[in-house]
Amino acid sequence: MPEVLKKLINNISLLPWIWEKSATKLAFFLLNTNEHFINDFRWNLENIKNKIGKCKICSSITDLWKNECSICKNTNRNKLQIAVVEEYLDMLTIENSWWFNWVYHILWWAISPINGVFVWDLNFEKLFLRITNSNKNLEIILATNPNIEWEATVSYIFEEIEKRKLKYKVNITRLSRWLSSWYIEYADNITLINALKERKKV
Ligand SMILES: [Zn+2]
Repeated sequence: MPEVLKKLINNISLLPWIWEKSATKLAFFLLNTNEHFINDFRWNLENIKNKIGKCKICSSITDLWKNECSICKNTNRNKLQIAVVEEYLDMLTIENSWWFNWVYHILWWAISPINGVFVWDLNFEKLFLRITNSNKNLEIILATNPNIEWEATVSYIFEEIEKRKLKYKVNITRLSRWLSSWYIEYADNITLINALKERKKV
């Protein structure tokens, strides 16, 4: 097998959810596909690292030259409801339900003491800044994967908000039920919508 093809198969096989056999198939697909596809693919690969930035408000990903993502920029969104999610894909899952008009805050981590990720490692500072700067009552919806570690997060947010002695009220809510999938990303649409619609005050 040509060296370059071997290397490509190796690259592809290092991607998550790819078996070695699929890596070989994909490499052969690329070898046989048209030039236009390859050029487009190469361009996107090259630019994934240098044309994507983070929204200065919610930390979601956005085009590098934009300060704010399209959701934060949208004046029709309810800025007084902030849904806190762990990952971009969680936000995408909720957005794809087409039910909610709130804005988001992305933490980019899930708490995992076993892996040395604690609540203070998460992207909370920007969230507290948003809360502190608000001149109206807010709702913070903890749309996070419901697991035991999150109990710690809830009390952390509570304490931090309390500490700041804010003029306006901050209501913290959470999903009304545990998702059988354990992950928002994999939850079925109806269960997720209901869990968010019937959310409970913490
Ligand atoms: Zn944003």
